[in-house]
Amino acid sequence: MIFYNPTGAPELACDHCGCRWVDRLKGKAYCYECGEEITAESIAEFQRALLELAKKNDQAGGGTT
Ligand SMILES: [Zn+2]
Repeated sequence: MIFYNPTGAPELACDHCGCRWVDRLKGKAYCYECGEEITAESIAEFQRALLELAKKNDQAGGGTT
């Protein structure tokens, strides 16, 4: 599950309880609240969202300073 915080940045959250406290260990992630494993699919989605954000920031900030 992916959340977006008010600044538009993605946050990885637990699919089971929606908690955003995620413990990431060696490519695997576990929820702090309920202990469920965060699926690889969710992590991949989160990484895609980060890339999208980076792209957006690139376009928005290109050469304006
Ligand atoms: Zn959870």
